[in-house]
Amino acid sequence: MRMVMSKLLAKTALTLSVVAVFASCKGDGAKENKTDKPAKDSVVTVLKPGSSIKLDPAKKYVYLTWDDGPQPPGTTNCEEVFREEGVKATFFMVGMHQFSPSRERIVDTIRNSYPQFLLANHSHSHGFRDHYREFYANPDSAMQDIYLGEKELKVPVKIVRLPGMNSWVENGKIKGPHSSLEVCKRLGSAGYNAVGWDLEWRFGRRSVPVQGAEQMAKEVEDILADGRTYASNAVVILAHDRMFRDQYKDSLRKFVQILKTHPDYVFETIDHYPLIQKGK
Ligand SMILES: [Zn+2]
Repeated sequence: MRMVMSKLLAKTALTLSVVAVFASCKGDGAKENKTDKPAKDSVVTVLKPGSSIKLDPAKKYVYLTWDDGPQPPGTTNCEEVFREEGVKATFFMVGMHQFSPSRERIVDTIRNSYPQFLLANHSHSHGFRDHYREFYANPDSAMQDIYLGEKELKVPVKIVRLPGMNSWVENGKIKGPHSSLEVCKRLGSAGYNAVGWDLEWRFGRRSVPVQGAEQMAKEVEDILADGRTYASNAVVILAHDRMFRDQYKDSLRKFVQILKTHPDYVFETIDHYPLIQKGK
């Protein structure tokens, strides 16, 4: 009985906190409600990372997935551009890159900015510091490394991008370079999804972007128009936070602004990718 009561109380507390969030977000409108009692239609669902949304078949979904953070000033530049442009994005972060209090704060900010930003897992050591052969040759230690990344970054979803591999794990299906397949299998069995990419904004020496903003936007438009993506009407774009230093921050803004001119494009976080949404 006590258990039931405490569960009930916890449920009531949750409902009240949802209402409180709603009331505090309501701005001026809240003042009109003199009784402080929420109207019947004011029940809101607080979207949690990993929860499903309804996707519109008439839209094309753009998933900006940015890897290897936290790497300031790139990460903070990207965050700023995305906020100012009002677009959603996913940051696949690396546990060992979170090595100072200021970097911890960057990770916290991204984690706490859902639903605009989703924090996802890109392992602890980035495949033993880019030693991918060794990393994937030992699936036990690779899995431990991935779990460690999740723990230290406090990643809220079971979504992974494998270091150095364009590999996919979704709904029990796996695809990717042969050396990564055993790790993919284990991720799938443990209830994880792994996300590869359709298109990369590549970088050259000193992490300088290869494609300009217009070129990159055209590549996105072309791949969507041609239906050459892993899931239809959805494009996963890979880039790296560190590319967007100096003048390249403006290049990122320009790229986002071009994509925003398409009325049928919708920016979403990767937990809302068609193939990995729960219940799909
Ligand atoms: Zn990476």
